Amino acid sequence: MLPYKSLEEAEVAIGRGLTHAETIWFKYSSNKSDFVLHFHNIIFFWVFYSFAPIPFLLIELSGNKKLNKYKIQPKEKKSFWEMFKCYKHVIKLSFYAVLPLQIVSYAITKWIGIGTGLPLPSGWELICQLVIYFMVEDYTSYWLHRMVHNWDWAYEKIHKVHHEYETPFALSAPYSHWSDVLILSSPALVGPAMVPCHIITYWLWFIFRHMEALDTHSGYEFPWSLTKYIPFYVGAKYHDYHHYVGGRSKCNFSTVFTYCDYLYGTNKGYQYAKQIGKKTPPTYNSIDENHHSKMD
Ligand SMILES: [Zn+2]
Ligand SMILES: [Zn+2]
Repeated sequence: MLPYKSLEEAEVAIGRGLTHAETIWFKYSSNKSDFVLHFHNIIFFWVFYSFAPIPFLLIELSGNKKLNKYKIQPKEKKSFWEMFKCYKHVIKLSFYAVLPLQIVSYAITKWIGIGTGLPLPSGWELICQLVIYFMVEDYTSYWLHRMVHNWDWAYEKIHKVHHEYETPFALSAPYSHWSDVLILSSPALVGPAMVPCHIITYWLWFIFRHMEALDTHSGYEFPWSLTKYIPFYVGAKYHDYHHYVGGRSKCNFSTVFTYCDYLYGTNKGYQYAKQIGKKTPPTYNSIDENHHSKMD
């Protein structure tokens, strides 16, 4: 909650006139507690998860041939009810895993100093912080993700749920065991802990993470894929392969950028698959028969 009673008081406190964005923020947040502002995150998740995947689901259900050529595993189709089962699981998960996580992470954000006041961060400050958060999360989640694959108990009891879908689709991005949510979400707090930010940046950080997860699980590699514009970006095809190989997957652990897989040699199975499947990109159909025996 802002410590100022009026716009004039806020302007005196920060020593200049408020920008348009700061005036909007003042009007929006002045009567809301920090706890309520923090809880916006889960509302954003519910709204984003319920609406953003719709275009992908419509493409899948329509069976449109022009668009189907961009599907990474075109032979695999999900029915409406399979998708709905996934949606129900994730919404339930959001109540018994994400909601408690919000309460715990509220205490953490207060401790690390996520601000809700004025002035707002500049555009450059916001961009730099988001880039740092992506880099830090990418590195830490690479090792956690690799750990839950290499540790048989953790894979069988926890991470296997996320791999129930060997053909990912937009709704399956957060489909996981509740403890997987806790384990693989924790790296998202490391960046803000290292470089504390304003709550607007914090909101944007989680929204971008949801967007990135949706994209990498969408099951489609369109010509406008971000892999063409962002160096080392994982993209849909790369993470799709991680699911395609299934429980035996020992490659493509990176979630945002591919460099960790490259540095630590965990992209070799994917490189091999690309080599033997290069006649029919972007699908993996040509390796349907032998991928389980040849991939690492
Ligand atoms: Zn995995
Ligand atoms: Zn996944």
